[in-house]
Amino acid sequence: MSVRKLKFKAETKRVLDIVINSLYTHPDIFLRELISNASDALDKLRFEALTNPEIIGDDTDLKITISIDSKTGTLSVTDNGIGMTSDEMAANLGTIAGSGSRKFLELLESGKNDEVAPELIGQFGVGFYSSFMVSDRVEVISRSAKENSETFLWRSDGLENFTLRSVDRGNRGTSIKLYLKKDMEEYTDEYRIRNLVSKYSDFISYPIVLSGTDSDRDEVLNTQKPIWIRKADEVTEKEYSEFYKHLSWDMEPPFETITYHAEGTTEFYALLFLPGTSSFQMVMPDYKSGLNLYVKRVLVGENYEKLLPRYLRFIRGVVESSDLPLNISRETLQHNRILEIISNALVRKILDTLTDIQKNRKDDYDKFYNDFGDFLKEGIYTDPGRQEQLADLLMVWTSKDTQQRTSFRELVEQMPENEDSIYYIVGLEKETLRTSPHLERLLEQEKNIILFDSPVDGIMLQTFNSYKGKKLVSVSRGDLEMDLTEEEKT
Ligand code: ADP
Ligand code: MG
Repeated sequence: MSVRKLKFKAETKRVLDIVINSLYTHPDIFLRELISNASDALDKLRFEALTNPEIIGDDTDLKITISIDSKTGTLSVTDNGIGMTSDEMAANLGTIAGSGSRKFLELLESGKNDEVAPELIGQFGVGFYSSFMVSDRVEVISRSAKENSETFLWRSDGLENFTLRSVDRGNRGTSIKLYLKKDMEEYTDEYRIRNLVSKYSDFISYPIVLSGTDSDRDEVLNTQKPIWIRKADEVTEKEYSEFYKHLSWDMEPPFETITYHAEGTTEFYALLFLPGTSSFQMVMPDYKSGLNLYVKRVLVGENYEKLLPRYLRFIRGVVESSDLPLNISRETLQHNRILEIISNALVRKILDTLTDIQKNRKDDYDKFYNDFGDFLKEGIYTDPGRQEQLADLLMVWTSKDTQQRTSFRELVEQMPENEDSIYYIVGLEKETLRTSPHLERLLEQEKNIILFDSPVDGIMLQTFNSYKGKKLVSVSRGDLEMDLTEEEKT
């Protein structure tokens, strides 16, 4: 039987070294990464089966099995998902694809190694390599769900090379066997595994079975009922937080969690998260926004962007509906009526939640606004239908207060009724704006003038001309003249 011996690509080698050396303080994460890969593989199989049902065959009991053996010091994570051909194994487990991994390297090599959080490795698509943090040797046995595929064994010590050979055993899917390092044998302890699964992987929607324990009984370790279907009062904040991290790879817990179950003509569940900070990821060119869309438990769209308008791209989450057809394609989704209904309901819910926070949790809202205010402004000029509601959420500096932002809505509500102009000035720096000569005359009249100091404000004001029946008037432009009395004009 032929054995292919292949060298890791230079980049892969570096990633391996970094993962092993800089994340060694968080060895636990390997299990979460392997379970997450198994779950992805099962999602891919289900998705394939939508158009090709035979692919599942008799092996319909989709699950993830963890086997531990303290005698041999091994741990395996097995799934009956999509599997890999030998070429896919060489490519997926021997090279690092995608610009994300390159960014990972750049980030790490910029000398901030010890600041790297374990969350990052999943985000950058290098999760599999975390196996080598705890193992001397890793074996991957896989058979692709594609027709007539052979089973292959990939084996490596994570140093220079890996080998690939065909083997006899033949279940569909992938089994990853770790030969644990001497000081990592704690991972053959069933209590330890039970604990880790419930801590990091409980929300996985396939059963995670613990097998080969001392009691010799198979035991399902996770709740399985998707977290977005569970009632909010039955889910702990910690569970939501873990799920959010899994979705976003954000290191911080979410700023706000929104759960939503709509019943009636269109039924759907949604679980949405507002992040705590607009992290560096969001400004990366390959940042993936969008929600995950499930139809009857099948993930039909990951990072699906059509569910929310672009200005809400900082929001993460999941939507599940049984009213959408399962065989829905990306193209037909774009014109789907039900999807439109869901989208409108979600935006309404999000804006209502923000309004509520703005009214009742001023400090929280201020913090949120610092990071995400510009996204709302983007909405004001791109979403005319919701302009007023979005404008309600604005916070502004004024000539009366440059230290604390004032609610734009309250400012306008407190204006005298007969006053039909909202005065503002746009510039780069609020303190400079306040001393602008353009303001003098209005300040003498005791007017409060809005100081817009962000570049996005200028763009927003191109389409944002009136609010609640009052006109927005720039004090540095000619239109101010209309307000002059005859006497002043001369
Ligand atoms: P990521 O999951 O972010 O792509 P990983 O390093 O975790 O990065 O995995 C690399 C690739 O290896 C995956 O994208 C997938 O193609 C393949 N892979 C890993 N585990 C499995 C598995 N259990 N079944 C099928 N393919 C897998
Ligand atoms: Mg992964």
